[in-house]
Amino acid sequence: MIETSEITGQKASRPLEVEVLVVGLGPAGSTALRLLVEGGVAALGVDRADFPREKPCGGGLSARTLPYLPSNLLDELPHQTTQGIRLTLRGTREQRQDFGRPIAYQVRRDQFDLALLNRARGSGAQIMTGVRNIQLFRREHRFEAKMGEKTVLARAVIAADGATSKVLRDLDPASMTEARDNPLLRPWTSAEGWASLRDPIDARYVAIDLGLVAGGYAWSFPKKDSLSGLGVAGFLKPLVDPRSVFARYLESSQADLDGGGVFTWPLPNFRSARHGRIPGLFLVGDAGGIVDPFLGEGIYYAVLSGTKAAEAYIRNRTAPEGGPDVTLRSARDYVRWLDREIWPDFRQGSRLASTIYRFPGFFFALTGRYPKLLELYASILTGDRDYRSFSRDIILRALGKLLPIRRPADGRLL
Ligand SMILES: Cc1cc2nc3c(=O)[nH]c(=O)nc-3n(C[C@H](O)[C@H](O)[C@H](O)COP(=O)(O)OP(=O)(O)OC[C@H]3O[C@@H](n4cnc5c(N)ncnc54)[C@H](O)[C@@H]3O)c2cc1C
Repeated sequence: MIETSEITGQKASRPLEVEVLVVGLGPAGSTALRLLVEGGVAALGVDRADFPREKPCGGGLSARTLPYLPSNLLDELPHQTTQGIRLTLRGTREQRQDFGRPIAYQVRRDQFDLALLNRARGSGAQIMTGVRNIQLFRREHRFEAKMGEKTVLARAVIAADGATSKVLRDLDPASMTEARDNPLLRPWTSAEGWASLRDPIDARYVAIDLGLVAGGYAWSFPKKDSLSGLGVAGFLKPLVDPRSVFARYLESSQADLDGGGVFTWPLPNFRSARHGRIPGLFLVGDAGGIVDPFLGEGIYYAVLSGTKAAEAYIRNRTAPEGGPDVTLRSARDYVRWLDREIWPDFRQGSRLASTIYRFPGFFFALTGRYPKLLELYASILTGDRDYRSFSRDIILRALGKLLPIRRPADGRLL
C-alpha cells in the first residue's frame, strides 16, 4: 500500500530524492521518522508489512518508555497497567510483590505499533507500507533503494527493520555472517503465544518464572482483553527447541493456547552489533542489536535509539557548516552515545543474567529473604536505575545487609 500522493505520482524513471530513508516502521522506525519530520528533515519511511501487523512480542512496555512516546499515546490504546511481580521457581513456590506504582504497561503490538505509525503520519511523514522487495545499495556518498520499479535516493539510511535486517544483509553482509558463524554472537531464541489462564492471576502482576527455562526465563503478561501473552526465552545459550520449552510452560501455568498458535522469533544478541561501519547508516532497535540481554526488553530501546538517531541527525544538520558531512558527524555522535550509555550497561546486564539464570534457586531464595531486591530490580523498569547502579546498590546493600530502600518525598528511589 502506498500512502503518499507524491510517491504514487512518481514515474518509474525518475528517482525520488529524500534526505533520510527509514526502513522498517516498528517502534524504532516510526519514532525516528516522526522526530526527523518534526525537525524539518525530508524523510521517507517504508515497511514491508501492511499495518496493523503482528510482531511476536510480550508487549510489556516498561514505565521508563513513557517520556519517549508521543504525548497521550497510551491513552489511545487498550492497556493493562502492571505494578507488581509474581515470581515462581519452576512453576511453584510463589512470591508476590506489589510496588504500588506502575512498572510496566501491557499493550498489544499490532495496536501499539499502528498508533506510533499514525503519529508519524500525523507529523506529515511520507510513508510507504507493503513494500516487500526493497534492495539497498551504497553509491558514492549516498544510498540507493530499489523497490520494484521505484528508486529512492537518500543521504542517510536508518535501518529499523528488526532482528533479521534486510538493510544490513544488503549493505554489511559480513556483519550477518559473523553473527551466524560465531556461537557467542548468535541471536537468542524465544517462543510465545496468546493464552488464557485457567486460574487467572491478578492482572496487576506480571508473572515471571525462573528455572523452567534453562538459561533464561518464562513470562506471562496480562492484557486488557483477558488473554495473556506467554513466552519463553533463553539468554545464556539459544534454546534448542523453544516450542517444546513453551509447551512445558503452558502446561505448568495451566494455560490454554489461543487459536493464534505459537511463534518463534530471534532476539538480537547485543554483542553482534557492528555500528559505524557504513558511513551514513544508522542501526536502531533490533536491527542495531539494541535489546537488553537480561530480560530481552527491546521496545524501550527501540524507541530510545530511534529518538537518539533522529536527534543526532537534526543536531548536526543545524550546526554551523564547515565540519565533516552531516551524515558522518551525526552517525559518529550516535555511535558515541551507544558506546557511552548502552553497551556498558548491557555488559553489566549480561553478567547479571549469567549469575541469575545459572543459579535461579539461589536468586529465588535471596528475593524471598530480602524482598527489597525485587523492588530494586523494578526500579530499572521505571528508569530510576540502570544495571550498573543496580549492581552497585546490591553490593552496597549486601554490605549493609540489604538495608530498607529509602524513598524521598519526590517518590524516586535512593
Ligand atoms: C517473543 C518476544 C517477546 C518480546 N517481549 C518483549 C516485551 O514484552 N517487551 C519489550 O520491551 N520487548 C520485547 N521483545 C523485544 C521487542 O519485540 C523488540 O525489541 C522490538 O520489537 C524492536 O523494535 P524495532 O522497531 O527495532 O523492530 P520491529 O518491531 O521488529 O519492527 C521492524 C519493522 O521492520 C519491518 N521490516 C522487516 N523487514 C523489512 C524489509 N525487508 N523491508 C521493509 N520493512 C521491513 C517489519 O515489518 C517491522 O514492521 C520481545 C521479543 C520477542 C521475540
